[in-house]
Amino acid sequence: MQDVKATTAEQLWTSFLSTDCTKLSKHVLDTWLKPVRCVAFENGVVTLEVQDQFFRDWLSDHYLDFILEGLARNAGHKVAIEWRINAALRSAVEAYDPKPETVEKSEERQPERYPTQLNSRFLFDSFVAGPSNEFAYAACKAVAEKPGQSYNPLFLFGGVGLGKTHLVSAIGHQILAARPSARIVYVSAEQFTNDVVNAVLNSKLEEFRNKYRRYCDLILVDDIQLIAGKERTQHEFFHIFNALYDSHRQIVVTSDKLPHEIPEIEERLRSRFQWGLIADIQPPEIETRIAILRKKATLEGVSLDDEVTCFLAESIRSNVRELEGALVRLLAHASLTRAPITIDYARQVLANVLEFKTQNVSVEEIQKVVADYYHVRIADLKSRRRVKTYVLPRQVAMYLCRKHTSASFPDIGSRFEKDHTTIMSACDKIEGNMKGDGDLRKQIFDLERKLDIARAP
Ligand code: ADP
Ligand code: MG
Repeated sequence: MQDVKATTAEQLWTSFLSTDCTKLSKHVLDTWLKPVRCVAFENGVVTLEVQDQFFRDWLSDHYLDFILEGLARNAGHKVAIEWRINAALRSAVEAYDPKPETVEKSEERQPERYPTQLNSRFLFDSFVAGPSNEFAYAACKAVAEKPGQSYNPLFLFGGVGLGKTHLVSAIGHQILAARPSARIVYVSAEQFTNDVVNAVLNSKLEEFRNKYRRYCDLILVDDIQLIAGKERTQHEFFHIFNALYDSHRQIVVTSDKLPHEIPEIEERLRSRFQWGLIADIQPPEIETRIAILRKKATLEGVSLDDEVTCFLAESIRSNVRELEGALVRLLAHASLTRAPITIDYARQVLANVLEFKTQNVSVEEIQKVVADYYHVRIADLKSRRRVKTYVLPRQVAMYLCRKHTSASFPDIGSRFEKDHTTIMSACDKIEGNMKGDGDLRKQIFDLERKLDIARAP
């Protein structure tokens, strides 16, 4: 017990802050205790003002006993607490937030009640931007700098393992670093669906809406295509979308399909996805794949021989997750066996992973698979007839040859009885069209699968 007991509200709170609260970490103190106003102390009742209900709930869930004991010590007797909400305090709190030095620190400041499950590795700094993804990267950066102002909603679109989750998480981290008190909800659409189901089953819609609408400054929904066919989930998301959008709060969704390609989704939701910006991520080019490998190796604290880096980047082309997986596996093996990492060693360790990826498919095989798929003859692929039914299969076959064989443009040209410039423009054309044409992407994907099967031992 202290000698001099506090008798006014101000004295009481100040002495509590300068004695008991010194045991707390600086950021807990700054975020949760200092913003509280102690406005009255009468008849053993202490009135504390906070910015909003969420703040109050969090504080009383986590620090009520601590506050009660501390105040009693400083007052010299037991006290009761009466909470009062004062919205005017909100801006004061924001102005007060000191910038944290690291992201980890800012994560601790998140209310534990709605934890953000952001992967701490997924930062802008650890993302390699290149032609395939720089538009998406820039859009995410812009959103992280001015949430709710630049592009709302942001719709990130791209194939599996190309960095959608990475980028969307990076947005969350950057916003938290700048404003640790930001209330960010990061969920996968699957988790979101579970939340809806549980809320409905347990009659907890109020709590659900608090989490997603009321106490949410920013929502990041990963793999939104998974809400296809789920009516109730779409209904709830629609209302969340409207609530956040109307109050200029940022919405970011990721998807492996474009809005118009997501099946069984309400039209009003589909059209909302198109309100803001749609940014796509394409599979990385060879230079980007090399840069990604270098960056990952540096992060792991190892240096990788240039030849081996190129070998890996050449072997695994369409999925960064697989590329990364191969690297991790290679490094783990090498550190266990203390073997130097050479191309041969990499080939040996990654035999299963690389099997059908490096085993070169031939131009002839591609021509055969493509001709079968489109029901044309191989001769039609080589002919000069410019009818539509031949032009597409021909260009697709040329594109696949360039992508999946080591043949040069002139090589491929001679096997199609064409000039190398024809092959180059076919590749450009297909790559360009794939961006906006889901059917074409699906055809290419089907064909690549067929080629894999054809090549498997
Ligand atoms: P998606 O969500 O699109 O399926 P992820 O974001 O999970 O893909 O990415 C898969 C893995 O690849 C992650 O470990 C991520 O860090 C890594 N990755 C993808 N693209 C890049 C990139 N451009 N730079 C660095 N790492 C990347
Ligand atoms: Mg993902």
